[in-house]
Amino acid sequence: MDLSIREINEQLKTKKVSVKDLVSGYQKKIEEVDGEIGAFLEVFSDIDEQVKTAQELIDTGKAGLLTGIPLAVKDNILFKGRKVSAGSKIIKDYVAPYDSFVAQTLKDQGVVILGRTNMDEFAMGGSTERSAFKVTKNPHDTSRVPGGSSGGSAAAVASGQVVIALGSDTGGSVRQPAAFCGCVGLKPTYGAISRSGLIAMGSSFDQIGPIGRKVSDVEDMFYCLEGLDPQDSTTLSDSERRSARKEGQVKTIGVPRHLIEKGGVDKSVIENFESSLKTLESKGFKIKDIELPSVAYSLSSYYILIPAEVSSNMARFDGMRFGEREAGKDLLGEYMASRSELGSEVRLRSMVGAFVLSSGYYDSYYNKAYTVRRLLSADFERVFGLTGNKDSVDVVATPTTPTPAFKIGEKINDPLSMYMADIFTVSANISGLPAISIPSGFVKEEGSDLPLGLQLTAPRLREDRLFEVAGKFLNEI
Ligand code: GLN
Repeated sequence: MDLSIREINEQLKTKKVSVKDLVSGYQKKIEEVDGEIGAFLEVFSDIDEQVKTAQELIDTGKAGLLTGIPLAVKDNILFKGRKVSAGSKIIKDYVAPYDSFVAQTLKDQGVVILGRTNMDEFAMGGSTERSAFKVTKNPHDTSRVPGGSSGGSAAAVASGQVVIALGSDTGGSVRQPAAFCGCVGLKPTYGAISRSGLIAMGSSFDQIGPIGRKVSDVEDMFYCLEGLDPQDSTTLSDSERRSARKEGQVKTIGVPRHLIEKGGVDKSVIENFESSLKTLESKGFKIKDIELPSVAYSLSSYYILIPAEVSSNMARFDGMRFGEREAGKDLLGEYMASRSELGSEVRLRSMVGAFVLSSGYYDSYYNKAYTVRRLLSADFERVFGLTGNKDSVDVVATPTTPTPAFKIGEKINDPLSMYMADIFTVSANISGLPAISIPSGFVKEEGSDLPLGLQLTAPRLREDRLFEVAGKFLNEI
């Protein structure tokens, strides 16, 4: 069950195993463990067609690397004819009328999609407790959260129910659950993977990203999914990709210690991070202190910019255009009744967003937060040497999260402490840069071994650097 995609591909191609046998092994695992873990919102029972297509591709020599690979997909990615609810009651029976770009790409490859995974409602949250349907448990300690919002995808991978899964990352929702569950999670460069058919949270932040057990699996999935899509005008072209990805190995890794030592980060996390830096040094990388002054403001600006985009994206779920329509005594009553189907976090963010965009407050909140967005991007450009400076680094390293997985219920009534879990992850989304979380060991808490993650951030479109450092760190290459 611990084979990489490349190894499984070899077994499928040499007929050591059939797609049917491979898939039924994973289906059995789902039956065994998902009653307790609760990673899936729906396990598809009608996958014979997918299995047949995959086997045919293999038998006719047309198989790609991902053909026949059993995987799961977060419940905010559209597959034509399948339900997609974004973890929300308001669209609980909505059936996707078309395929997302990633669904179409995966179908063309002949993957086998086993089901859709649980998530915080409309991807707002960091624990999967905000799902309207159920709480997913962390496979390493079932009294704890798997992280979020792609907690179902991370838990499914960590408990061996699928080889790899897709999540979406707006402020950390792929990397944080990957860290909490001991997986590898990638947030690609903004525009690398099409968002067509992804239910939007914050459109200028959202990216679909893979969660897997190996760096090579995440890498293979990323290279399969990236590309220009006319349906998403923010996707990047092949020529942009080629000109960004120049040769050259990673030599220097920058560490913004001022951020890590600021407080609010668990001692065990700092110790684990220091030992990760030693491992990186032992692999030949040079570690260097860097300053990213605007990062100090990134979390507060994220929680202004994101509600602003959320309030606009959530407007369509009103019971008229999308969502269940509830009866009311007049039109306003109908709107009020229909909108009350949305959970409290979604309503909170929609209201905060409407406030920060309102004419009297726009300059004091939204505009200031947007200025931080520009400053933060400039900070990264400087440390990566894109402004011509010589003392640059190739990649930036931080912990992924300030703590290991917390207890179910621990932060649910305290939004601020829940938001603090995103302190290291939001910067990559604000600046559109690629970042990866890789397992960096365990800490013992109350008798459980809880995984921690190391986060690496690279310049725009330099996912190749992330795979290089991550692969070396985990002894894959
Ligand atoms: N936890 C963050 C938030 O609640 C991240 C969400 C995400 O990346 N979808 O906004």
